[in-house]
Amino acid sequence: MPNRAIKESCRTSPTLNGLSDFAERLFWRLVTVADDFGRFPADPRFLRSECFPLRDDLKTGRVRDAFAELLACQLVTTYVDNCRTYGVFTSWEKHNRRRASHSKYPPPTSDNICQQPTTDSAESRKIPRVERSREPRDGEPPQAAAPAPCPGCSLIIQALNDLTGRNYQINPGNGLHSRHQEHGTAACLRVVSVVGARLLANEKTAKYARPKTLFGPENFPEYLVEAAERPEKSIPLSGSEFSKPRNRLLAVKEPA
Ligand SMILES: [Zn+2]
Repeated sequence: MPNRAIKESCRTSPTLNGLSDFAERLFWRLVTVADDFGRFPADPRFLRSECFPLRDDLKTGRVRDAFAELLACQLVTTYVDNCRTYGVFTSWEKHNRRRASHSKYPPPTSDNICQQPTTDSAESRKIPRVERSREPRDGEPPQAAAPAPCPGCSLIIQALNDLTGRNYQINPGNGLHSRHQEHGTAACLRVVSVVGARLLANEKTAKYARPKTLFGPENFPEYLVEAAERPEKSIPLSGSEFSKPRNRLLAVKEPA
């Protein structure tokens, strides 16, 4: 892993300025975790242990929320390969010279990459979600192949399962992927951590901390507002001024 150099323009980057302090902290540490291709495993537990190895007290959920900010600002994006979620810095190539000839991790492709919402939401809605099928095994009819899970939905459902201790699955009928496509990963994670936690805290409503309730089309607009209004910290939602970052701040420094 080469050392990474920091450009002075980081101080005036509106993108970095829009991050919470902790998300920016994650950003810089993640720069040193990513391989020469800007790729890294995106499981929040891995991010916590690799980026904050001395922080025994740090909750995975806090790292997940910070990572969602990086996603919302399009500093990183996620993709799934062989059932594992990876992340990649979106403009790594522009600012980093590659020393390694091979990445440690599989590549993002147009099929496995998670589409994040852009400021032009009409444009982003035109991009069809490509569900990639895995290769059928010997003797297995091709129609039995399952589509690759959406990387964003995987993070969201994992967050809900971590919160509730239950084992929800990504299900086309529960609205999760539709809300995810409309509003992005960060907004959905925010709804889980704010509204899901509120529902779970009351024994009468705890059972409703589930995908069908959280991501159903009726309640979701209200939940989005509730999640955005919680004052402690805020994640920029889709269409924010931070959705189109220009300055990227990273460079690989060749060792002397
Ligand atoms: Zn999704």
